[in-house]
Amino acid sequence: MHPAQPGALAIFVDYDGTITNVDTFDLLVRSSAGDGPWDAIEADIANGTCTLRRALERQAALIHMPPEEAFALVEREAHIDPSFLAFVDAAKAAGSEVTVVSSGLRQMIEPRLHRLGVQVPIVANDVTFDPAGWRLSFVDESDNGHDKAARVRAAHKAGKPTVYIGDGISDFEAALAADTRFAKKGRALERHCNERGIACTSFTTFDEVGRAMFGATLFSRPGPSSLDRASVSQ
Ligand SMILES: [Mg+2]
Repeated sequence: MHPAQPGALAIFVDYDGTITNVDTFDLLVRSSAGDGPWDAIEADIANGTCTLRRALERQAALIHMPPEEAFALVEREAHIDPSFLAFVDAAKAAGSEVTVVSSGLRQMIEPRLHRLGVQVPIVANDVTFDPAGWRLSFVDESDNGHDKAARVRAAHKAGKPTVYIGDGISDFEAALAADTRFAKKGRALERHCNERGIACTSFTTFDEVGRAMFGATLFSRPGPSSLDRASVSQ
């Protein structure tokens, strides 16, 4: 017998740039060190001379700002998709599991999602707010610092249909490992899939993902209660 409930999916969702409109880490590094250092490190990742893990370490070390200042900046500039909560509610109603898988900073993610009323597992790197340069504690020993693809493969092995929703380089391998994938429109993951002829559905908001995945019956537009909860931090 199939171990998963019929129709139940294991859904993995990236945070930065996927649930939010911009990448939190990008925002913090550019605000601290300017565009040059960020662009140089991103180029190193793109040309394969630096692992994502090492790149994240280098980028974190460029941030010296006090955590309160960082939280305020992120709150002001990085907006959470208001339809994400309704998406999570629809997924749960369908018996599916949602896990947020991030290469970003757990301390910057958890409080915001919890305040919105989103209660799902969140797996991300830990940060020490060292005034001499932030330091990361990675989720695992992989070259990415967080092997998102391993989580997708484990769910697949457990007999669950897998879905991956992401936008960037840290999502490439995990998205390819999933049975179905959604890529944020105009971002690196969408290009990566298109260039390789890998099927992916492009999206702009979780409203679109929810409708595509659960249909209009389970996925209703965010109701008054959802909007009230979403407005708490917007
Ligand atoms: Mg991302």
